[in-house]
Amino acid sequence: MKKGNLAPNLKLSLPPPDEVALSKFLTESGTFKDGDLLVNRDGVRVVSQNQVEAPSLIRPSDNQLSLADFDAVKVIGKGNGGIVRLVQHKWTGQFFALKVIQMNIEESARRHIAQELKINQSSQCPYVVVCYQSFYDNGAISIILEYMDGGSLADFLKKVRTIPEPYLAAICKQVLKGLWYLHHEKHIIHRDLKPSNLLVNHRGEVKITDFGVSAILASTSGLANTFVGTYNYMSPERIVGSTYGYRSDIWSLGLVLLECATGQFPYSPPQPGEGWINVYELMETIVDHPAPRAPSDLFSPEFCSFISACIQKDPKDRLSANELMTHPFLSKFGDLDIDLAPYFTSAGPPLATL
Ligand code: ATP
Ligand code: MG
Repeated sequence: MKKGNLAPNLKLSLPPPDEVALSKFLTESGTFKDGDLLVNRDGVRVVSQNQVEAPSLIRPSDNQLSLADFDAVKVIGKGNGGIVRLVQHKWTGQFFALKVIQMNIEESARRHIAQELKINQSSQCPYVVVCYQSFYDNGAISIILEYMDGGSLADFLKKVRTIPEPYLAAICKQVLKGLWYLHHEKHIIHRDLKPSNLLVNHRGEVKITDFGVSAILASTSGLANTFVGTYNYMSPERIVGSTYGYRSDIWSLGLVLLECATGQFPYSPPQPGEGWINVYELMETIVDHPAPRAPSDLFSPEFCSFISACIQKDPKDRLSANELMTHPFLSKFGDLDIDLAPYFTSAGPPLATL
């Protein structure tokens, strides 16, 4: 939908002032409809008649959104870098997630970030969360994202504790397709693959998000040493500061899957029950200790083999996203036609659905 067509001087014939009639014209987002006019507190928009009946949905190519076009509904998540809100587009009623990352940075870094975010916006893949538009305003980057009403895999895992192999294979297939797209089509290393960056929805879809965000933060001058995310899923070669590539994401994928299967992060602190003393102790363990494996008495040989194809300390020993797609763990459950939609919704109703 194109923004614009604002006609502030148009005279409106508003609906009759009795309440029943009025309610017919007032949409949930506080927008009045009158003939081919939409009006709310931010202005008047002329739309075609069929748009009034059923406003067309916003597509990623409609890059003319502005923050003033959205109503905030509620806060849906908080990360280290910022806050994520469910917002609703005033004119179409469509839901989005608005992520605001607070950062006070200089002009050159800002331009760099704007450029990187454009790359994000150009991504079009059903296994990657759509980034519709991003803004830099008053020391904060705001990103309008596709809203995923099931939340993250981290949220889901808290509810179900563990994910059985057949569902895990179906989830893994989608994540691999997303990774394949990022690696082979966009030539992007995600760098921050973890359960909270895999989002799910009531349609049973799993999508990768926040790719490129960590790259932007890492490559922005003055911010290189201010990584505030988690080191849990970071590959050994990244921890020691060697060069790293796409297979760094495959290490993270292996850890995520193993955590989903067992219900526990694969590394445990040396003193059980005491927790990690600091982040360096965890990093040392990842670098110095043998790579974790899936316990063969609890899981199928195919799953164990898939995990060890991902979690190899030497990146050369890991398989690529493309190679993993033909792994027997994924074909093993292929015939079952696993539907993730009821599985995801069984853990709780979606927050808001259009
Ligand atoms: P970190 O800041 O350490 O990377 P994080 O990934 O949890 O952690 P955010 O990316 O800010 O931080 O996301 C916070 C939470 O907001 C997520 O865990 C998820 O529950 C929710 N969230 C993020 N993006 C969306 C989205 N597009 N749709 C629905 N929920 C989302
Ligand atoms: Mg995130």
